[in-house]
Amino acid sequence: MNYKQQLAVIEGLGIPPDTQIRMDCPFCQNKNTLTVDTTSNNLGWYCFHASCSARGKKQGEKTMDYVNVTFKKEDINTNEEFVVPDSFKSVFSNEKVLRYLHDNNCWEACMWARADIKYDVKQDRVVFLVKNPDTGKYAGAVGRGLNSKVYPKWYMYGNKDIPFKCGECKDAVIVEDCASACAVSNVLTGIALMGTSLKQSHKNYLEPYENLYVALDRDATKKSYELASELTSAGFKNVKVKVLHEYDLKCYSTAEIEQMFYGGKDE
Ligand SMILES: [Zn+2]
Repeated sequence: MNYKQQLAVIEGLGIPPDTQIRMDCPFCQNKNTLTVDTTSNNLGWYCFHASCSARGKKQGEKTMDYVNVTFKKEDINTNEEFVVPDSFKSVFSNEKVLRYLHDNNCWEACMWARADIKYDVKQDRVVFLVKNPDTGKYAGAVGRGLNSKVYPKWYMYGNKDIPFKCGECKDAVIVEDCASACAVSNVLTGIALMGTSLKQSHKNYLEPYENLYVALDRDATKKSYELASELTSAGFKNVKVKVLHEYDLKCYSTAEIEQMFYGGKDE
């Protein structure tokens, strides 16, 4: 198949923007060998199977057709229940997972069951399960690779429209990844976008909070401000940007997060 034909097939998959996903290859039919990357407004694909030559990249603006296909598919899958695969095991089954949770300040969120965290034996990932707040059921999961050979580093299973949420506090903070959402959850509700952009569908799952902070990774500070004004225009109250000194919020301990958001309030 030439580039144009491949592109048509890949576009037909209806993969949402800002996603890195691994799936069965529609060209060679091998299991889980195709990666598709729609981050940074690009569309890239690559099949790892030796017999397959599927690969390509389309850069820049997405066409309206692509956008339409994407959103149509999203609507259909929203309330589908995610069946937790057998390969998801307890976090205690793998030492790397325990270390990851500890090093990224997720341990308490896991132990207090604010987050459902598992180990995916098959993909060697620490997996954060995402619940659909409307149905109370699992909608998907987000997995982070535990060794450098696991690609992509973050992988989304099932539904990709519902943000990962951790904690039930009166204030919330929007972060980039699930580990950061867990790290803040002793102090604030953490909401992970899995990227730097807010999808329309994300807004439907944001409740009103007393204060809604935006704290994307430090290198995305400009994006944090854009996102905050987008949320304000969408009707959310008390939206504030938190500029980080460390790289992202999972670098901070609970005490440091407490100090950062509420320090000085009662002084
Ligand atoms: Zn292939």
